[in-house]
Amino acid sequence: MIKNKNRNHSIISREIIIRGLVQGIGFRPFIYRLAHDCQLNGWVRNTNEAVLIRIEGKEENYNCFRLRLHSQKPWTAIYSSMEEKDVSPMGYNHFTIEASEDVSDQVTRVSPDIAVCEACLDDMRRSSSRNYYPLVNCTFCGPRFSIIKSLPYDRKHTSMAEFILCEQCQIEYHDIMDRRFHAQPIACNQCGPHYELWKTDHKTKNIHEILNALAIIIDNGGVLAMKGTGGYHLMVDAGHEDAVHKLRSIKQRDQKPFALMFKDIKCLREYAYINNAEQNALTNWKRPIVLLRQKKSLVKGINEGFGALGVMLPYMPMHFLMFDHLKTPVVVMTSGNLRDEPIVTENQVALKKFGDRVDGIVVYNRDIHNRIDDSVVKVVGDKQRIIRRARGFVPLPVQIPVNVDNILATGAELTNCFAVGKGKEVIMSQHLGDLKDFETYTFYTETIEKFKSLFRVNPQIVATDKHPDYLATQYARELELPLIEVQHHHAHIAGCMAEHNQTEPVIGVCFDGTGLGDDGHIWGGEFMYTDLNSFERFIHFEYLPLPGGDKSIKDPWRTAIACLYRVYGRALTGIELPFMNKVNMKDINLVLDMLDREINTPQSSAVGRLFDAIAALTGTCIHSDFHAQAPMLFEALTDESIQSEYTFNISSTIQLKATIKEIVDDIIKKIPIPVIATKFHNTLVSIIVYCVKNMMKRYASRKVVLSGGVFQNAFLLEKTERELAKLEVDVLIPLQVPCNDGGLALGQIAVAAAKREQQKK
Ligand code: ZN
Ligand code: ZN
Ligand code: FE
Repeated sequence: MIKNKNRNHSIISREIIIRGLVQGIGFRPFIYRLAHDCQLNGWVRNTNEAVLIRIEGKEENYNCFRLRLHSQKPWTAIYSSMEEKDVSPMGYNHFTIEASEDVSDQVTRVSPDIAVCEACLDDMRRSSSRNYYPLVNCTFCGPRFSIIKSLPYDRKHTSMAEFILCEQCQIEYHDIMDRRFHAQPIACNQCGPHYELWKTDHKTKNIHEILNALAIIIDNGGVLAMKGTGGYHLMVDAGHEDAVHKLRSIKQRDQKPFALMFKDIKCLREYAYINNAEQNALTNWKRPIVLLRQKKSLVKGINEGFGALGVMLPYMPMHFLMFDHLKTPVVVMTSGNLRDEPIVTENQVALKKFGDRVDGIVVYNRDIHNRIDDSVVKVVGDKQRIIRRARGFVPLPVQIPVNVDNILATGAELTNCFAVGKGKEVIMSQHLGDLKDFETYTFYTETIEKFKSLFRVNPQIVATDKHPDYLATQYARELELPLIEVQHHHAHIAGCMAEHNQTEPVIGVCFDGTGLGDDGHIWGGEFMYTDLNSFERFIHFEYLPLPGGDKSIKDPWRTAIACLYRVYGRALTGIELPFMNKVNMKDINLVLDMLDREINTPQSSAVGRLFDAIAALTGTCIHSDFHAQAPMLFEALTDESIQSEYTFNISSTIQLKATIKEIVDDIIKKIPIPVIATKFHNTLVSIIVYCVKNMMKRYASRKVVLSGGVFQNAFLLEKTERELAKLEVDVLIPLQVPCNDGGLALGQIAVAAAKREQQKK
């Protein structure tokens, strides 16, 4: 005991290096205050790759510091690694924050944008005139990625550069005990950017006038455009059917569900079921849109047929002020764009695009340097899965086990994200959208340039999809760099392996929409034995023709006809299925001609297309208004209490004839569609289990990766995970990136890195 006591009084001198999300989030001031509290001396500083701490003092004080370093860290901080070593004491007599040093070309963490913190909300609500400020922020909250132009993260490198701090803000900025000490984007209503309301008849800067006017607009069923963190939103009262309808016509979106923002979680509970994991997802500083199971119905036009609600809670100070003034506790809060265009970020563009269509525009004069949408997540089996990775997540890197330095991966076509590599870290871009839209493509090429300069990446290799028609592939080819083309589904599986630190081969199950296969056909129902370098295709769904090619994606009824044709040939016209009455007979005959003559009927093994077909067969979705609508509607019909399934046959491929025939029989027997939908899902689960078992006989791996866009289907994913668990295998699923094409670039970059390493050997 005595020995211990003596040791506690000995002097410690240590260097600590913390890597992770530790910059731009008030971390150095936190260390400073902690060191003071614990009576320790030394210094802290940011390097380009980490936070470096030198600390000296009594061992007992150091132990206390060490404990609180973990228990009291800022809500946003993530430690990815922490190194500690003894160094010779320097005899410091105080603790200081040293200036940033530009030491190397390593990755520097840029924090994602952070929801307003409780302390700032309190400041604002106390409403002394200076703090009643709808852009209030501090070291623990506020805009980050959306306003940064270059590193290191200092005010002069952000869109706050033009705003000079007033005297009071200066004091807070320099007061080490203040929450705004060294907070780069701080400002107040004396010195900072301000909001304005633009209406046809007048403009106002007065915040009270703005709030009253916007409340009148929303409460009376008007449409408002409002500048958010990473771009504009369009907003209406979610309880006002005409307003929702009007918003649909402005957006040129007929059926895609709208996201909602609720005043608080209490109001939200009336409308949706929320478990603990979902509550965490809703309330943490990332504030994504969370997909929840709906409890109470809403007005028409918000989300018919989907059974899920996309909801978020307020995250900007202005959102809170707005709800203080609104009568309604819930608004539709959809991205401020028209159809597939990128969200609007510039005030003048907002005026041009929305000016004639909305009843008011709420702007502020701080520029959005990096456009970024709201993220979308869904909790499945208590784990958060990302569907759209943007605000709150980007640009957090993904650590992977291979060196990806200076590789650019250009991503896919429809839900594009690209990736750049630094060391063993992959920085995925924010969700960019459908590259076929011209403005989105411009956003894509501009963002690649921004990432190259912000993260100091100089691509030496470019990884891309094999599909020659993808604009991302064409972009890659034009770079005239060594090119590595990665098969689409190999990339899906490899990305998931990489994020889970897997380099040994796995059993990969890729259920996807469409991706070009090595045999020139469309793949997407694949069982593959995969490592990062290469893959072996074990078995796949039998090919089905897609009459009209891409047209069949917009018209799932075409694939339904192709399914029937597989079983019944031309005699299918004799079967009375209700969905056929909703399609022009002339069109059906055209499709039959295509099938007879095998013209414009690309062959596809994609499970996504199979979902389309069965959803159309049952009349659930004949025409698709947006990507994956048919599978989403079909999933919404499932019922966990139903255990039955359809027959399937497996030879060299997974055969569908028997399955389709039984489904048709069920439709003719007028079996309820939810029963058919569930049986179809159950059949897919059984197919997976059967094929995985067979692969386990052939290969040594006991790890199964599930990826591809179809696994956004929570019913399918949850049940598959449960059934595979019985085989005593490890099931790996993408968690840090989406399983859809938004995560594809991670796999592309991992495969390219593995191939580069192999070449070196
Ligand atoms: Zn704050
Ligand atoms: Zn000020
Ligand atoms: Fe895909």
